[in-house]
Amino acid sequence: MNAHITSLITKDLQHIWHPCSQMKDYLLFPPLIITGAQGSYLELAEGGKVIDAISSWWCKTLGHQHPRLKNALLRQLEQFEHVIFANTTHETIVQLSEKLTQLMPTLNKVFYAGDGSCAVEVALKMSLHARQITRESKKTKFIALKNGYHGETLGALSVSDLGLYRTPYQSLLFDAYFIDDLPYVLNKYDPLWFDCTEHWQRIEKKLMPYAETTTAIILEPIVQGVGGMQIYSQDFLKRLRSWTQQNGIHLIADEIMTGIGRTGKMLACQHAGIEPDFLCLSKGLTGGWLPLSAVLTTDTIYQYFYADYQPHTSFLHSHTHSGNALAASVALEVLHIMAEEKWHEQASRLEEVMFAMMTDIAEQTGKLTRVRGIGAIVAADLVDTTAARPGFEVYRRAAALGALLRPLGNTIYWLPPLNIEMATLEELMDITMGSLSEGDVE
Ligand code: PMP
Repeated sequence: MNAHITSLITKDLQHIWHPCSQMKDYLLFPPLIITGAQGSYLELAEGGKVIDAISSWWCKTLGHQHPRLKNALLRQLEQFEHVIFANTTHETIVQLSEKLTQLMPTLNKVFYAGDGSCAVEVALKMSLHARQITRESKKTKFIALKNGYHGETLGALSVSDLGLYRTPYQSLLFDAYFIDDLPYVLNKYDPLWFDCTEHWQRIEKKLMPYAETTTAIILEPIVQGVGGMQIYSQDFLKRLRSWTQQNGIHLIADEIMTGIGRTGKMLACQHAGIEPDFLCLSKGLTGGWLPLSAVLTTDTIYQYFYADYQPHTSFLHSHTHSGNALAASVALEVLHIMAEEKWHEQASRLEEVMFAMMTDIAEQTGKLTRVRGIGAIVAADLVDTTAARPGFEVYRRAAALGALLRPLGNTIYWLPPLNIEMATLEELMDITMGSLSEGDVE
């Protein structure tokens, strides 16, 4: 390590508190210093590059430094970067909103926020607030899925079921009912994917007591990301959607990870042929260039709030960077590229390839089980979890070999840019195989 790199790391550790990290781990595994990023690769100060196998926390859907996205951003930069979004508008955001409302026919209003967690907060608040306007005073509760995750702010954590993230803040969280016994599948060929009647009968029975008091059900459609890339039956989503409609309950689809092509459709809800009342998008929305999130909703919800001004019937949620022009310019170009080049179809093709590769790794190493996948997502669990932190060890080894894997607990997964090249996937396969072998990390 040269002196400059050493000094940079020392200063980093002196001043920075990194996200989702135990900072003491950085003594053992210092941060990678990134000097560039291109396509599916991150370039390192020490020389060499690593594959961004998880699309930088699932957002770099079209890889790094996409020239069209860069140009869109530069064009906007020439005009203006950001203005207050209350009482103003601009061409870019109008075009983006028009495009977003074409994703699903019933979702024709867009509200903007800055990141995924905030989009979830907006959707939760809109649902609850709508009940006050319609005087459905009993409908104040939320239902979510066991093993689900919706972000780190307190409302989002309240409807998330991962103790690792929520336990320390329990005293500030509101209660929610979590649906368990979900019909998980390994892929779309599992019979449960098509028909989950038995699971549903049990689930529906348990849900009934909550029908009257529930304002909304929130879920990650089809894939629970942070919960370990668990895939569930599209039939379950379809049935749950009907149930919400029969009981006057809103459905909030958190497509922050699954949206914009990741699962082989533009939106994961399309696997079940459903449309929610609220749809949350972020991450891939700007191809991971800038923070932006959007909550799409129906005209019905919008009209509840539309009235002559009086306190408490306007949705006064305000984020400084709502409608940010730079982020919107990139998002608009992402949607153009997705429409023209159909990368969600490529995700569908990657589904077969990535599943076959991970199955191969599992068979050759004997170290992985429950290989599962949909679209450009594949995951498997480590068989031997006797080491203190086996996922962390794999992470360190993979980084040394040339890939950023960052397992979720004991789950190894790939979630690469949708436009990853085949040769890079093959390289990733070799690195993953190597990272599962014994031996010390350099
Ligand atoms: N919902 C889901 C499904 C997510 O995967 C995430 C982020 N991993 C979030 C919400 C939160 O998004 P953000 O990190 O942008 O707040």
